[in-house]
Amino acid sequence: KQAHHRWAYLNEEFVEANKALLPVTTQAFNYGTAVFEGIRGYLSADSRSVNIFRLNEHIKRLLCSASLLMIDELPEQNTFKELMLTLLRRNEVKGNCYIRPIAYKRNLLPNSGFGVKLSGVSSGLSINSLNMQSYVKQDGIKCTLSSWRRVSDNSIPARAKITGSYVNSALAMEAAVRGGYDDAIMLNNHGYLSEATTSNVFIVKDGKLITPPITAHILEGITRDTVITLAATYLDLKVEERDILPSELLTADECFLSGTGVEISPVTQIDHKTLSSTNPHSVTMVIKGLYLQAVRGELNEFHHWLTPVY
Ligand code: PMP
Repeated sequence: KQAHHRWAYLNEEFVEANKALLPVTTQAFNYGTAVFEGIRGYLSADSRSVNIFRLNEHIKRLLCSASLLMIDELPEQNTFKELMLTLLRRNEVKGNCYIRPIAYKRNLLPNSGFGVKLSGVSSGLSINSLNMQSYVKQDGIKCTLSSWRRVSDNSIPARAKITGSYVNSALAMEAAVRGGYDDAIMLNNHGYLSEATTSNVFIVKDGKLITPPITAHILEGITRDTVITLAATYLDLKVEERDILPSELLTADECFLSGTGVEISPVTQIDHKTLSSTNPHSVTMVIKGLYLQAVRGELNEFHHWLTPVY
């Protein structure tokens, strides 16, 4: 179902994906000092085009994450966009796909030592892509409230998509899967909901759509923004961005995860509690439907979110 494309981009060159290799002295490999994005492209509903969803926003966030780690020498917004489109065209993409740019700390200058500082270290850029369909269970997922706390803004800022912070996600995910769950929802150091391992969290309670605010130590998800925008445009319900207590999650009517990878994933169970997220006409299923229409180019008002590959 997931197949890597033939070509990848690595430091100014297009190379065969299996030859896109880095030396073990790469600082990012030693210390997790890289930033990345996960971006999806979708075949349009009329099968006439492949469109990248919210490409501009993903590049903007990548450049913002990169600036925090002093990863410079990156292409600017439009050049970056063209670079990704060139890669996809070279790979002759014809359907749903995923793009993974990684901007990383390369080597200490003049190429010696293993220092951990950010200045004086060169930068690198790789982009790889693959064919990818929806991979999360369509009939809803089971989540656990993790005992791992989400990385704090004053340890590793979650608002930047830094490779090193995915150690936190991996630990939480591993414990969840071993407990028979599909994903983990984490609290922040203040005891409020933050996010899941690779997605943001929404709950529906008493007819309101509620999600943690950007100050809750979360990645400012582009899908999160899409959900908020779609709900405000098409649904007659209040959207609240505010702190959420664990007990509110456990007593919610519905819950779903939002992310480029997981798309809109209804949560049908959180620990011992069952939720009605997948009921027909649930807010979750309506939003999921709207999201899939948006990415497939079926919402005229939101065509500006799409970048055609060809
Ligand atoms: N939080 C985390 C930790 C993530 O890895 C992701 C996936 N990028 C998200 C949230 C959702 O972000 P987006 O909707 O921009 O994909």
